[in-house]
Amino acid sequence: MSVPPADTERDHKKLGKELDLFTFSDSVGKGLPLFTPKGSVVRRELERFIVDEEIKREYLHVYTPDIAKLDLYKKSGHYPHYKDSMYAPIEIDGEQFMLRPMTCPHHFELYLRKPVSYRELPMRIAELAQLYRYEQSGEIMGLQRVRTFCLADAHIICASEEQAVDEISKALDLIEYITSVFGLTLDIDYRYRLSLGDRTNAEKYFKNDSAWEKGEDLLRKLMQTRGSKFEEAKDEAAFYGPKIDIQMKNVNGKEDTAFTVQYDFCMPERFDLSYIGEDGKHHRAFVVHRSSIGAIERIMAFLIEKYAGAFPLWLSPVQARVLPVSEKHVAYAKEVLNALKTANIRVDIDDANESLGKKIRCAKTEKIPYLLVVGDKEAESKNVSVDSRDYGKLDAMPLAAFIVRVTEEIKTRK
Ligand SMILES: [Zn+2]
Repeated sequence: MSVPPADTERDHKKLGKELDLFTFSDSVGKGLPLFTPKGSVVRRELERFIVDEEIKREYLHVYTPDIAKLDLYKKSGHYPHYKDSMYAPIEIDGEQFMLRPMTCPHHFELYLRKPVSYRELPMRIAELAQLYRYEQSGEIMGLQRVRTFCLADAHIICASEEQAVDEISKALDLIEYITSVFGLTLDIDYRYRLSLGDRTNAEKYFKNDSAWEKGEDLLRKLMQTRGSKFEEAKDEAAFYGPKIDIQMKNVNGKEDTAFTVQYDFCMPERFDLSYIGEDGKHHRAFVVHRSSIGAIERIMAFLIEKYAGAFPLWLSPVQARVLPVSEKHVAYAKEVLNALKTANIRVDIDDANESLGKKIRCAKTEKIPYLLVVGDKEAESKNVSVDSRDYGKLDAMPLAAFIVRVTEEIKTRK
């Protein structure tokens, strides 16, 4: 069977270098990405987008440390299950600490700081959490597979199974919204997978057959109620419960889990997560683990390939470039530059002593969405001539009108 040729023009490793978005250094280490100023703009915009959207949806965004005591991961059960993907302990003052591979136990400890009433549930604790996992040398691949990544993570503490199922459904709504902003379509660009446990493997999965049956059934019914197509995959669950994975393929056709929503009936016991019910008594909580935008590195790799480096305006490192026709137009070009900067548009200027044609070609290889050409006519009338990457050449327009147009396009993330 022949393998289709890889779409190398879209390869995020190649584009990441050409567009100067990220790099790796042997001195820093394998699988440890360094984001350039331009790549950091893309990352920051993605982070702002998700944090703002989650806050709108009543998530509580927090910060917790990147390391914690080894005992914490023994308590959570991550240590035996994830031992092979965790780094060796760091000894501090005679105690062992780990770089965290997961955020869950940190959020549970935060939850435990005070008694919680049923009225406060569901409580959605979210974090852009830097995680550290060992990937074998051969597995490391650009931003797709790295040894440290930032997960848009959350743990939703729920009062009942019904509430947990409702929260899983809301998490899927959020994921479907995010993917629509990226221009992705369900069943074309991504698909749902119901990832199940394996009752015969007590080493890999927390032993509680009836809880597994019930949890898997709840997720299956939810997907059916939502009317979503999904595939079932045995032996792909988390050790603490079944999950719904959102599977995406990269340009080489390799499929990965981009986002995940998990139902957990195990951690609430281990961490004694409870709440005070209407009856004044303590009740056991339920937990939903979910990522929304997934790992920032992985979604960036995916988006670079999807857009072939031509990011939509809101994500573009440089949104507009001002091109003075000649030296005598530089003064007005700087006026345009400053007006756009004041309007929070990411803009730069190319006032090199080169031909206009050369400057335009250069800006096009950088995939800049808007080029503003200013010459005599524009300087006189305080206009700009616009060459748009996505809409072609536009009629000359007043500078103020261009700012309104671009600001609206950024805001709506079109
Ligand atoms: Zn978790």
